[in-house]
Amino acid sequence: MARYKEASCRLCRREGTKLYLKGDRCYSDKCAFVRKGYPPGAHGQGRQKISEYGLQLREKQKARRIYGVLERQFRRYFKEADRRKGVTGETLLQILESRLDNMVYRMGLARSRTDARQLIRHGHYTVNGRKVDIPSYLTRQGDIIAVRESSRNKSFFKELAEWGAAQGTVEWLEVDRDNMSGKILRLPSREELDIPIAEHLIVELYSR
Ligand code: SF4
Repeated sequence: MARYKEASCRLCRREGTKLYLKGDRCYSDKCAFVRKGYPPGAHGQGRQKISEYGLQLREKQKARRIYGVLERQFRRYFKEADRRKGVTGETLLQILESRLDNMVYRMGLARSRTDARQLIRHGHYTVNGRKVDIPSYLTRQGDIIAVRESSRNKSFFKELAEWGAAQGTVEWLEVDRDNMSGKILRLPSREELDIPIAEHLIVELYSR
C-alpha cells in the first residue's frame, strides 16, 4: 500500500500550521514547527506571493496531510462527497473523519493518526467485534471500535489507556476507557471539528 514516507515535520512547516503527525512530540518544545515555523528549503524564509490557485492547492494538501490520504484516494472522497446530498465541503470532512484510523485517534486509542494506521495494519482493533486491519475502512454511526482483547494486556496498550484517559473526548463519540473501546454516536458537524481547513477552497479547486 502506498504511503508517505518522508519527514513529517516538513509537512507542518510547508502548510504553516501544526498537523499533529507525531503524537506526544507535537505537544513538546521539540516540535519542529515551534522551532522553525517557516517553510522548508533554501527559500523558506524568503517573501512568498501566493496565487488563488496556490491557496486552494495548499488547503487541499493540508487536508490530505492531516488525514494521511494520498491524492487518488482524496479525489475519490471528493467525488463521493459531491455525489451525496448536503454541503460538499462538510461532507468531505465527514468522510475523512469516518476513516477508521481517524476514529481510533479521536477515541484516544492511538496517539496520532499515523500511529493509528500502523496499529490498525497490525490487527490490534475490532469494529463491531470483528478484526479490521484496513486504516481507510469507513466507519458508520453506531459502530463500536475496540482494542482487541488479545492486545489489551500488552504494556504498550496499558500505557496507551493511561494516556487516553488524560485526553478529552469529543461529543460525537462515547468512549469506554476501561474496555478500551468507543462508540460512534454520530458524525460531527463542521462547527464541532477543530481542524484548520478552509474546505470551500478545496471544493473550488476541484471544481475548476
Ligand atoms: Fe508537526 Fe508534530 Fe512535527 Fe510539530 S512535532 S512539526 S506538530 S509533526
